[in-house]
Amino acid sequence: MATLADASLSFTRVPHPAPASAEVRAQVLANPGFGTKFSDHMVSIEWSEDKGWHKAEILPYGPIALDPAASVLHYAQEIFEGLKAYRLADGGIALFRPHANAARFNASARRLAMPEIPEELFVEAVRQLVLTDNEWFPTVEGGSLYLRPFMFATEAFLGVRPAKSYRFLVIASPAGNYFKSGSPAVSIWVSDYTRAAPGGTGAAKCGGNYAASLVPTAEAFARGHDQVLFLDAAQHMWVEELGGMNLFFVHADGSLITPALTGTILPGITRESLIMLAREEGLTVKEGRYSLDQWREDAASGQLLETFACGTAAVVTPVGKVADHNGEFVIGTGGPGQLTQKLRQRLVAIQRGDEADTHGWVTRI
Ligand code: PMP
Repeated sequence: MATLADASLSFTRVPHPAPASAEVRAQVLANPGFGTKFSDHMVSIEWSEDKGWHKAEILPYGPIALDPAASVLHYAQEIFEGLKAYRLADGGIALFRPHANAARFNASARRLAMPEIPEELFVEAVRQLVLTDNEWFPTVEGGSLYLRPFMFATEAFLGVRPAKSYRFLVIASPAGNYFKSGSPAVSIWVSDYTRAAPGGTGAAKCGGNYAASLVPTAEAFARGHDQVLFLDAAQHMWVEELGGMNLFFVHADGSLITPALTGTILPGITRESLIMLAREEGLTVKEGRYSLDQWREDAASGQLLETFACGTAAVVTPVGKVADHNGEFVIGTGGPGQLTQKLRQRLVAIQRGDEADTHGWVTRI
């Protein structure tokens, strides 16, 4: 297991004057849901042209002051990450591949003309918050502490150019188990909308991408589906990804296909991890193009056995049904497939410390 070196900035600590009572916290932790409850503290680090990264603080969780002219409010210079801290079987705490999140955060920063943060500082900020609020781990099975690092432009200036000052924050939210074993596979609506075009920001984790996905997602929900699927912008025929998850296709010949990282989809950390695990299982994994028509055809002929979606929040989720204006088709039995379940079990076991971490993915804090 990897251990972390101390980052160079030291953190000033301002404890919460009135933290949640043990009773309130216990209620939240027994039924955390997702993304609505937050721990007592947050980490804040500032950046300016003259000082670089400075003013690292652990603060009481609460509202922040922002100048009405702050450029994030006008031109959406904002990026974020999502990762989980887990309680291990031995009672310790670990993060899953936090350096991969830090690297992706910096890739997003470069695309949005924002300053990069040293990877060790990013991970240290997350670590400080988890250690400070280590009583905020859900007590429900499969629960975790979801961490949300994000950065936004704070400079008060209405000109359209990169801001000269930024704030980096990390907040923590207790999260329940998204995927209860035996839960039905999800149903997907193929959107007419485009998520990302070549040369755009599809590979960056910026708030703007998600703002643009809200109408397509609402449409999928209104039509009775669980998730939205985006096709490529140019030809509207190649499968890209879901609103917040990457996709894998399991074929009868033992091969696995996942859309290649062409710059229009998010390079998921779960995706990358599953590619490695699948190869270890002896499967051939191809990163390439897969069309909606081929998907439909392969599902009908039996060539395609399973399809699953993956991401930090839901880990691995089977896809049972796909619909567009031409009708719908079912994949396999319409329920979770064998490989889907196996890969999910292995990934969860590694994350929780129940399976040996041969890849150095689990970072104890
Ligand atoms: N695609 C999109 C658009 C996402 O928002 C996410 C969630 N971060 C993913 C894929 C999955 O990425 P990860 O496995 O790193 O959570």
